Amino acid sequence: MSRLDTRDLVEKYNFRFTKSLGQNFLTDETVLDDIVNGAEISKDDYVIEIGPGVGTLTKELIQRARKVTSIELDSKLIPILEAELSSYDNFNLIHKDALKVDYKELIGDEKNVKVVANLPYYVTTPIIANLLNEELNIKSITIMIQKEVAERINGEPCTKEYGAFTLLCKYYCDTKIIRLVPPSCFIPSPKVDSIVIRLDKLDKPRVEVEDKKLFFNIVKQSFNMRRKTLWNSTKSLGLEKDLQEKAFADAGIEPTRRGETLTIQEFANLANAIKNVKSK
Ligand code: SAM
Repeated sequence: MSRLDTRDLVEKYNFRFTKSLGQNFLTDETVLDDIVNGAEISKDDYVIEIGPGVGTLTKELIQRARKVTSIELDSKLIPILEAELSSYDNFNLIHKDALKVDYKELIGDEKNVKVVANLPYYVTTPIIANLLNEELNIKSITIMIQKEVAERINGEPCTKEYGAFTLLCKYYCDTKIIRLVPPSCFIPSPKVDSIVIRLDKLDKPRVEVEDKKLFFNIVKQSFNMRRKTLWNSTKSLGLEKDLQEKAFADAGIEPTRRGETLTIQEFANLANAIKNVKSK
């Protein structure tokens, strides 16, 4: 089966790019191959693609996967995708904002679900956060994202990249960088370098937390004001002083430390200790 050529399609349909929709379409075939190979797509897989554009990556996925559902917001792209791809019986197109899709319903009882996307950069973090927070039955998420966002996902304690988003990804996933992608691989060229990264969902979260909401609330408070000590950032939880002191002692964490110095395990220990003193 032949490939689709992004430049040809843009010309054929006289497509006009909308910058605000993060429309940078892939033109480099080696990147297409690296995404599909990096995602390890096979005939067992159900692929959900976000933002198919003119369908270049979509067609590669259709040929390799059992079934593909693509979600596209731009109404100008819908007739193009229908014309080019609707003849494939393993392809479905949803015309919708990817942030408003009910993924639980879309996935249903499907097995081997993988998300693959060259994401629109203006919604990268909310899309990843949605996919992870909803605890969906997804095996992996292979995405093209801004290099800077990939660095945040892989951030280490005590670096400026390390933050609440790092901990969200670390809590649910292992990560693997597939490749760097320069601006010249897209039309129009973005201003930044991109990275293809795969997030592999862990069978169970990386750390055991008794109260997930509390854990992520503590993480959020700790990074909202990075210069604050943990003692100050956990004050908003409204604990009495002696209980707050006990929680820090039980967790073995100095209250004068800042959140950005804590490993995910230390955040879990602190959250569990706070949960424990609260429930007594
Ligand atoms: N997959 C194509 C490729 O690799 O050439 C296009 C990728 S382009 C970076 C992002 C795509 O996401 C565009 O087709 C854009 O219209 C679409 N898009 C933007 N915002 C979206 C949203 N909120 N929900 C779904 N699709 C969106």
